[in-house]
Amino acid sequence: MMHASQTPELAADVVIVGYGPVGATLANLLGLRGIKTLVLEREASVYHLPRAVHFDDEVMRIFETAGLSEAIRSGVTLSPGMRFIDRDGKLLLDWSRPPETTPSGWPPSFRFHQPSLESILRDGLKRWTCVSAMTRSDAFALDEDACGVRVRFEDMNTGKLVACHAKYVVGCDGARSLVRRFMGVAMDDLGFHERWLVLDFLLSRPRPDLGDYSVQFCDPVRPATYVRGVGDRRRWEIALLADEESQVMTAAERIWPLLRRWVTPDDGTIERAAVYTFHSVVANCWRRSRLLLAGDSAHQTPPFLGQGMCAGIRDASNLAWKLADVVTGRASDALLDSYESERSPHVREYIERAVRLGGIINTKNTREALAALGRKGDETIKFTSAKPRLGAGLWASDDTLAGQLAPQPQLGNGARLDAAVGYEFALLATQTFVQTLTQKTRATIQDRRIRIVDDPILQDWLHASDICAAVVRPDRYVLGTARSEERLMELLRLLQLPASARHPTPRGDRPRRADGLTSARDP
Ligand SMILES: Cc1cc2nc3c(=O)[nH]c(=O)nc-3n(C[C@H](O)[C@H](O)[C@H](O)COP(=O)(O)OP(=O)(O)OC[C@H]3O[C@@H](n4cnc5c(N)ncnc54)[C@H](O)[C@@H]3O)c2cc1C
Repeated sequence: MMHASQTPELAADVVIVGYGPVGATLANLLGLRGIKTLVLEREASVYHLPRAVHFDDEVMRIFETAGLSEAIRSGVTLSPGMRFIDRDGKLLLDWSRPPETTPSGWPPSFRFHQPSLESILRDGLKRWTCVSAMTRSDAFALDEDACGVRVRFEDMNTGKLVACHAKYVVGCDGARSLVRRFMGVAMDDLGFHERWLVLDFLLSRPRPDLGDYSVQFCDPVRPATYVRGVGDRRRWEIALLADEESQVMTAAERIWPLLRRWVTPDDGTIERAAVYTFHSVVANCWRRSRLLLAGDSAHQTPPFLGQGMCAGIRDASNLAWKLADVVTGRASDALLDSYESERSPHVREYIERAVRLGGIINTKNTREALAALGRKGDETIKFTSAKPRLGAGLWASDDTLAGQLAPQPQLGNGARLDAAVGYEFALLATQTFVQTLTQKTRATIQDRRIRIVDDPILQDWLHASDICAAVVRPDRYVLGTARSEERLMELLRLLQLPASARHPTPRGDRPRRADGLTSARDP
C-alpha cells in the first residue's frame, strides 16, 4: 500500500528499532511465536568489536529457548570467576564460579565473543518467515495513531524514505535511543559515571600466567580489570584519571606503558582501544502507550558484574511472550504494564550491586565498600550473587518461589524441561496432583494452553519446596505454587483472558488484589 506522500508503507505487528544482541534476541523469540516483526538497524553489519565478554546461565537458558544454545555453546568458554586484589596482591574478594550446572541447567558463567554471538542471533532469524530485518535503515520518526505507530526510516541502500505501521514499537536502540527520546523519558541516575580505557588484546604467544580468572586490581593509583576472553583474546579495562584526555589515551605510546605490567608488544597486538564512560542509569518509564524500551535504551550499568547485555536479554525474554499474547488477542494490552514493573526493580538491583563492586575497585571507597559487604578485619570475602526476584507483576506476591526462576531438570525421556514445554506456560506437578484434578480444572488448563509436566524427576523439587504444583511462565519465572486445586485455580484466573482483550485497553493503574495476587491480565 502507498501512503499519500508516496512513501512505501510496510506493516508489522512489532517493529524493533536496533539489531544489537537485545533486538536480535527479541526478534528470535517473537519469531518463535509467529509474530510478524520488522527489525530496523542503522549499520550495515554486526558491530565488529566486542563490548560484552560475559553472560550467565539464565541468558544461556534464554538462548536455549530461542533454539540457539547449540550454535552458541561451541564458541564460549566457562569462566572460573573473578578475584579482587589490592595493590600488594592480597586477595580481598573471591567470587569463584564453580563450573557445575545450576538449577537453570547450565554452568553459571560464560565468556564469549560478542560479534560472533550477534551473528548467530541474526542467522537464527532465517528460520522465521514472519520476521524480517533491514540493515542500513535509520529510524528517524515515530507517529502514533489510534491503532498503532508509524515508524519512518531512511533505507540507506536506496536513499528512499520508508514507513512501517506497527501495533507496537520496541526501542532496542542502545544508550542514545531514538525511541526513548520520542517517549520523552528521562533516566534515573544511580550515581556511577567513570571513564575507562578498554583495551582488547590478541595474544600471539601463550601466556598461561595471565590466568583464567577475571581480576579486579584495586590499585589506589589506577584501578584496572583483566578479563580472559575466548581463544587468544584478552581484555584490560583501565580507569582514566581526571586530567587524562580520552583521545590522547588511546594512542599506542600511552597504552603500552599502561599494559607493561601484564604484556608487551612481543606478546601480541592491540585489537582496539576505546574510552567508554560507564554509567549507572535506569529509564524512569519503559512503556508509553505502544512504545517500549529494552536493553541499553532502558538501563546502563558499569560492567563489573558483566550484566549489562544479560539484563537486556532478560528484558527480551520477559517482553516477547507478553507482546505475542497481546497482539494475538490472548491477553489484554494491560499485560504489557507488568514488563516495566517486573524488570525495572530487577535490573536496578544488579546495577546497584555493580556500583557497590565498583566501590571496592575504586580505591577511595575500598574500605567502606568491603565493610558494606560484611568484611571483618583482614579476611577474604567469599562472594556469591543470588539472583534478584522480579518486581511486582504477573506472579503471586504471597508465594516465596514466585517471581523467581523455576529449575530446568532433564526429564526421564532425556528431554530438557524447557524443550518439552516450549515458549509457553507450564504446570509442573506431582503425578498424584495431576491425576486428582477435576475435569473443570483440566479444561481451564487446556484453555490457557498450559503444558502439564508431571515427570517423576520433578518430585524432588516439588517435595523439597513443600508444594504439589507450580505454574511457570514462558520466560521460566514461577507464576505461583499450589498445594491444592483451589489455589491452582486462583493462579489460573490470573491468566484469564478478559473480555476487553479483543479490543486492547489503554494502560492504567490496576488495584492490587487482596489475596496477594497481582494480575497484569486483569483489565
Ligand atoms: C567495555 C564494555 C564491557 C561490557 N561487558 C559486558 C559483559 O561482560 N556482559 C554484559 O552482559 N554486558 C556487558 N556490557 C554491556 C553490553 O555491551 C551492552 O549492554 C549491550 O551491548 C547492549 O545491547 P543492546 O542490544 O541493548 O544495544 P546495542 O548493542 O547498543 O545495539 C543498539 C543498536 O541499535 C542501532 N540503532 C540505534 N539507533 C538506531 C536508529 N535510529 N535506527 C536504526 N538502528 C538504530 C545501533 O546501530 C545498534 O546496532 C559491556 C559494555 C561495555 C562498553
